[in-house]
Amino acid sequence: MDDIFIAEKIKQNFSLVQFAAYKVGGPAEFFLEVKTKEDLVGACMWAKEKNKEIKILGGGSNILICDQGIKGLVLKIANSDTVVRGERLDCGAGANLNRAMYLAAGAELSGLEWSAGIPGATIGGAVRGNAGAFSMSMSDIVETVEAFNLSKNNFNIFSNKDCRFSYRQSYFSDKNDYLIWRVILKMRKGNKEKIEQEIERILFFRQSKQPRLPSAGSVFKNIDLEYLESVNKNLSEEAISSGAMKDGRVAAGWLVDLAGLKGKKIGGAKVSLEHANFIVNTGNATAEDIFKLINIIKNEIKIRFKVELKEEIQYIGF
Ligand SMILES: Cc1cc2nc3c(=O)[nH]c(=O)nc-3n(C[C@H](O)[C@H](O)[C@H](O)COP(=O)(O)OP(=O)(O)OC[C@H]3O[C@@H](n4cnc5c(N)ncnc54)[C@H](O)[C@@H]3O)c2cc1C
Repeated sequence: MDDIFIAEKIKQNFSLVQFAAYKVGGPAEFFLEVKTKEDLVGACMWAKEKNKEIKILGGGSNILICDQGIKGLVLKIANSDTVVRGERLDCGAGANLNRAMYLAAGAELSGLEWSAGIPGATIGGAVRGNAGAFSMSMSDIVETVEAFNLSKNNFNIFSNKDCRFSYRQSYFSDKNDYLIWRVILKMRKGNKEKIEQEIERILFFRQSKQPRLPSAGSVFKNIDLEYLESVNKNLSEEAISSGAMKDGRVAAGWLVDLAGLKGKKIGGAKVSLEHANFIVNTGNATAEDIFKLINIIKNEIKIRFKVELKEEIQYIGF
């Protein structure tokens, strides 16, 4: 890869707001939309030579970008080609999760319906965080992942087992040294009408329970029941009896609500009235407002219930 050629493609001081679900955050010092392996490898070599840190951006639906922006080179993963091969979907990591779901539905393939209505997410971002809902997650359908090792500059293939998926986590989120490039999803043959009905049902559910203002989905991970029992036995019993369990975990939103924090506002950031685990941008929020509100919630929950909430969203540039 010609160094001058890639340098010409890299943009400077590039605004990222269009990619940020929260609609906040500063610019990238350097930015490149990566569609080919050649550009990916060239950009990584460029960053190494210039001693610039690399940050990866998928659909921006689960991140909070600092108001001061991001130092280094931001790579927006944009290889979005997706092909149906029998019962498999072969997806570029930059493919839109919902587009892949509709492509699968059209080919009578089931397995992604749970993601209906998650706006903007990419397949790569969803694999990294093992995204999921309604008792399903990416770990149920990922067959293999091709990922680029940012330290060693080489591509590696990972089996489902190698990905070490757990609740909203994977080998890639733990190591943070891999850029997911392609993913093969092993779907199940299904009935087109039933798949479409399930998509409609989930879309309706999300529309009736989730806010419409800009957000990055759930801010906090749901809480492991064993952990809750160990720090606050009474609360764990209350969670079970109040029906606050979600896929074997205690809904973080239930705790935020119990602490009376629904509607709490800092600047333009507000705890959603529709769903207490969502923080919304009411119009003029800054990343700082959202960050402060997250920390107020964490402190309050720690003091009141002895529970440490962990973020599901990822901070970039902080
Ligand atoms: C309204 C709404 C509802 C949501 N509902 C759900 C839900 O039901 N379940 C759920 O799990 N999530 C949900 N989310 C959160 C989010 O959509 C998912 O976590 C999604 O998988 C993030 O993908 P992304 O491409 O947007 O990643 P980004 O937000 O761009 O990035 C998230 C993290 O992944 C890294 N990353 C992105 N792409 C790659 C790659 N190719 N290789 C390596 N690292 C990468 C980034 O560096 C960052 O650390 C919701 C979000 C919104 C806004």
